[in-house]
Amino acid sequence: MKKVFVWGVLLAAMQTPLSTYAAPVTVITTTEDLAAITREIGRDRVRVDFIAKGVQDPHFIDAKPSYMLKLSRAKLFIQVGLGLEAEWVPSLLRGARNVNILRGRNGHVDASEEVALLEVPKGRLDRSAGDVHGQGNPHYWLDPLNGKQIARNIAKGLKRIDPEGKEQYDQNFVQFSRKLDAAIERWREAMKPFKGEKVVTYHNSWPYFLRRFGLTAVDYVEPKPGISPSSSHLIQLIERIKEEKVKIIIVEPYFNEKTSRFVARKSGARVVVLPPSVSKASGMTDYFQLFDHIVATLTASLE
Ligand SMILES: [Zn+2]
Repeated sequence: MKKVFVWGVLLAAMQTPLSTYAAPVTVITTTEDLAAITREIGRDRVRVDFIAKGVQDPHFIDAKPSYMLKLSRAKLFIQVGLGLEAEWVPSLLRGARNVNILRGRNGHVDASEEVALLEVPKGRLDRSAGDVHGQGNPHYWLDPLNGKQIARNIAKGLKRIDPEGKEQYDQNFVQFSRKLDAAIERWREAMKPFKGEKVVTYHNSWPYFLRRFGLTAVDYVEPKPGISPSSSHLIQLIERIKEEKVKIIIVEPYFNEKTSRFVARKSGARVVVLPPSVSKASGMTDYFQLFDHIVATLTASLE
């Protein structure tokens, strides 16, 4: 009996195609969100690492030599694009000296491809203003429906680098996509009572999320994305919150809460700290847990 079992296992192992045992594809993503989605699509065919932690401001990351080393070994590099990483990715890529992962090469994925963008500026971009959203709002991963297009772009990149895995990547995409559809229904149902609700957010990170669930941001603590508020802006903001009867000020965890708490005290609104990214450090290991967390926190604080 035992012998038969051992032979069976050996035979099964021998019949498994060799590619299953090929070294995993080394993927480096700029953010933890992209790493989470890549793991869903790549599963055991990939080894994924990321640079910016979910608890860090993705616009401003120190370009450390250790990140260059990671990129020098990457087979596939995936970034959010739209200038989100403009302050740090170019110098990391220069330091990594890995031509295969440069924009336009096989090993490069811009996850924003084919995503319907919000707040794309008309006319020439004025960098002197210091606005870090010069090419349109780059926080598009916060509409869970965009997660599908991101996953599609990642699958495309993986198939370019590892064509033998095509079938698996396609299957994993279909599964991820189905799971996401079901989850979006769940989140939509939970958010339904709060349609039309007006909020203020610290950074303009949330337009994709808010639009998907029928809420609007009437103003921001930052006068422009990436610019700290002046006292005159805060005074206007306090008035605006009172006028529009805004209940909550959403603050990303990497901003100082002090300013928002001051505005909240003066205006009667409440501060809600909301993570805009998957963050292992905060106990979220996948894209689904991110929205579960956001929806649970928001619905509790808007009730
Ligand atoms: Zn931003």
